[in-house]
Amino acid sequence: MNTPREAPGRTSGRAPAQDDLDLVAALGLDDKVRLLTGADNWRTCPLPAIGLRAMVVSDGPAGVRGITMDERNPSASLPCPSALGATWDPALVQALAAALGTEARSKGVDILLAPTINVMRTPLGGRGFESFGEDPVLISRLAVAFVRGLHQAGAAAAVKHYVGNDSETQRWTYDARIAEHVLRELYLLPFESCVREADVDLVMTGYNKVNGVTMTEHGPLLNRILKDEWGFGGVALSDWHAARSTVATAIAGLDLAMPGPDGPWGGKLAAAVRAGQVDEDTIDAKVLRILRLARRVGAIGGAPAPQAAASDGRTPDGGAPNGRGLRDPVLADPALLRRVGAAAFTLLRNSGGALPLDLEAIRSIALIGPNAVSPVTQGGGSATVPQVSVSTPAAALTEALAGLDPETQVTVRPGCVTWNIVPEPPRSALRDPDTGEPGVRVEFRTEDGALAATEHRSATMFTWWDGLPEGVGRDGRGTIVLRTRYLAAYDGPHVIGAGGVGRLALTVNGIEVAAGHPDLPADPVEAMVRPGEIRATVYLAAGREAEIAICLRPDDWPQGPVAIRLGLVPAPDDDTLLNQAVEAARAADAAVLVVGSGPTSESEGFDRPGLALPGRQDELVRRVAAVNNRTIVVVNAGMPVLMPWAEQVAAVGYAWLPGQEMGTALADVLLGQAEPGGRLPVTLPADEADCPVLHSVPAEGRLEYREGLLIGYRGYDRAGTKPHFPFGHGLGYTTWAYESAAADAPVAPPDGDLGVTVVLRNTGSRTGREIVQAYLEPPTADPGRPVRVLAAFAAVTAAPGEHAEARLIVPARAFARYDEAAGRFGAWVRPSGEFTIRIGRSSADLPLHLRVKNHCEAERTPVAAPAHAGARRAWRPGPAGPR
Ligand code: BGC
Repeated sequence: MNTPREAPGRTSGRAPAQDDLDLVAALGLDDKVRLLTGADNWRTCPLPAIGLRAMVVSDGPAGVRGITMDERNPSASLPCPSALGATWDPALVQALAAALGTEARSKGVDILLAPTINVMRTPLGGRGFESFGEDPVLISRLAVAFVRGLHQAGAAAAVKHYVGNDSETQRWTYDARIAEHVLRELYLLPFESCVREADVDLVMTGYNKVNGVTMTEHGPLLNRILKDEWGFGGVALSDWHAARSTVATAIAGLDLAMPGPDGPWGGKLAAAVRAGQVDEDTIDAKVLRILRLARRVGAIGGAPAPQAAASDGRTPDGGAPNGRGLRDPVLADPALLRRVGAAAFTLLRNSGGALPLDLEAIRSIALIGPNAVSPVTQGGGSATVPQVSVSTPAAALTEALAGLDPETQVTVRPGCVTWNIVPEPPRSALRDPDTGEPGVRVEFRTEDGALAATEHRSATMFTWWDGLPEGVGRDGRGTIVLRTRYLAAYDGPHVIGAGGVGRLALTVNGIEVAAGHPDLPADPVEAMVRPGEIRATVYLAAGREAEIAICLRPDDWPQGPVAIRLGLVPAPDDDTLLNQAVEAARAADAAVLVVGSGPTSESEGFDRPGLALPGRQDELVRRVAAVNNRTIVVVNAGMPVLMPWAEQVAAVGYAWLPGQEMGTALADVLLGQAEPGGRLPVTLPADEADCPVLHSVPAEGRLEYREGLLIGYRGYDRAGTKPHFPFGHGLGYTTWAYESAAADAPVAPPDGDLGVTVVLRNTGSRTGREIVQAYLEPPTADPGRPVRVLAAFAAVTAAPGEHAEARLIVPARAFARYDEAAGRFGAWVRPSGEFTIRIGRSSADLPLHLRVKNHCEAERTPVAAPAHAGARRAWRPGPAGPR
């Protein structure tokens, strides 16, 4: 692996700088402790006396949102991490992360809360779209690349969420019961790789417990493994509000409690030090880590702030908004996002060469599906950004076809609806009642009804974690009013939804049509995605404007944001929509269906209830396929869905949640201007019952990781179950023959990596790119362990008829497993005997194999003795899982 270029201020040394030791020695306890809690939601605490400015933090990983969710300061919207997982392309991921880091710096952001490197344990995980996949080796390679990309741009990366934070149900409290070898081999591996290989700047601890101990208080996982054993020199920060004790968190190795200014530390921590419950040395060590981070991002020693405008347009010190003398942010390049979208597109089936579309034979196309018109380009929750633009499949394909062949007829039909909260209306149908501009008016009123502030906005959903005007707030005081004029395009009943956290009243033309107080969302982040809603159905006349107003009295809810949202759509009639779609398909030479997740299907804060497509989409696909034998289905989802119709259609591909360039990337692939580059980073099941882990609902607060190592393809292989489409699968527009494979040596070297060379040939008629995958089988089968695991992969490109040589490096660690019983503390050991390396194009299509011997004769040889050896084992992880 290449060593990344160091950005200015980055040094790889882990020992504290003498300057920082001197600074800490001169600081008083209160100042030191102040540095350990955020100044607010998105800033660390500045200390001007030592030349330390606040460091600005923003959410990722699919964009840089900045410190507010504000459509006036939009962000580039990247393909979601599961799409990046599908590229299997560390170099591309590094380039993308570098673009993200540049955008972050240009917006005044020092630290990006990304990448998410938890594992897709269950396909129902609400936040699975934020993960790179189900395999720790794939995740590690991409995570290391992502971190290096951010670092290369001078931004700090915070990998999250350490560890066992793999599902959302009861995420604040559940206790993940994970055997230590499973932690080591599966869930910790991506974190270990980012620390050891990329020297990552920050690690974010999760809300959950692991084996009975809350992660922010987990001394063994934070101090012993992360810091002592792996040598992590950065900052361990809490997930938002995850630090819930004073002494236990301080002793366990947490360095920074976010957000602030309140929280369990501050004065309470200083008092604990004075009372002798926490050593001052422990505090000093945390401050040194924060100063080291500050040096890396240039926040100390008089270096200028990265760039002026944060994404709300204000400088970190509250200066002038963007557009008034400050540099514009440098958003990630749409051409790069489009290229990544195509590289991630995973073609699962292509019967009779249905793709790319043959425009010689096709004169008319029916473009069908709810997601063709309103795609889901990003997942919900903290990963969401206000997008700078969105290219829909309907618009982009229509435009691309018009460019290629103006004679081709395109008909667009949504086919059915999939929403469960009322969709937001198109902005073009709304007018600010005061100024007449497109959009809405938002008023902030104090308790006595006085107008504290008012603004014109072009969005219809708002969340505020900070920054409300004085007297209107999260403490239940004052009201927020959203007013607009809606111009209906159709005569008939319309559904209006007024969403928010608090008491709501909805009026239409001055008449109150609904009022109520929806329940608080179960998770604060849910308020950003699907706040509770009251609804009314009203008749609206086409061409006439209706005056709509929502009045919200926010709840007193310190953990969550203030949220208000307007939804408004013509009342749906699925039967008519379905019939119109079927008729369009019948009349066309080809039907392109874009189906998938609904607007709130995939999000942080809640898991999915099942794997079926929402609404009547399965019926829609079947009925379209019945009348058009050139039906191509594109699935727009970040995680697995069931596709019971897959064998009835000509082609099926996964577009994931591809960010703002969804339409352009899709047009490139469907029309053959780009090859579909994706390979599945997660197994797609034929049936829910086949999933090794389906539900992740804690029982009495405990989430037993009983399956041990057998998640994803490892579980399918061990059970002998055939998935619908296996891990690693994906077709390009050419075909390949795997001809031979050779290892550099017949014996795996004791501590080094083993090189393998694979020769393959492009047997098709187009230049293509192939991902060559190597899976390692241990010398002896063990029912509790995987049959084989991914050990290495590499890409090759070749023209038709050409040979290509793929060079794969199987790391020494791949030959080892973690033995909890080895020595006093557990250790990595290498079983003796002969390993089999199987090579091919997916976990289920492995035409070549090689055998290599282990280097040793002994039954168990310890490797890489942990740094903590000799210390007393303070923590024994929970249940012994299958081994
Ligand atoms: C999420 C984190 C996120 C943080 C700040 C938490 O609820 O779990 O991933 O970075 O909020 O938004």
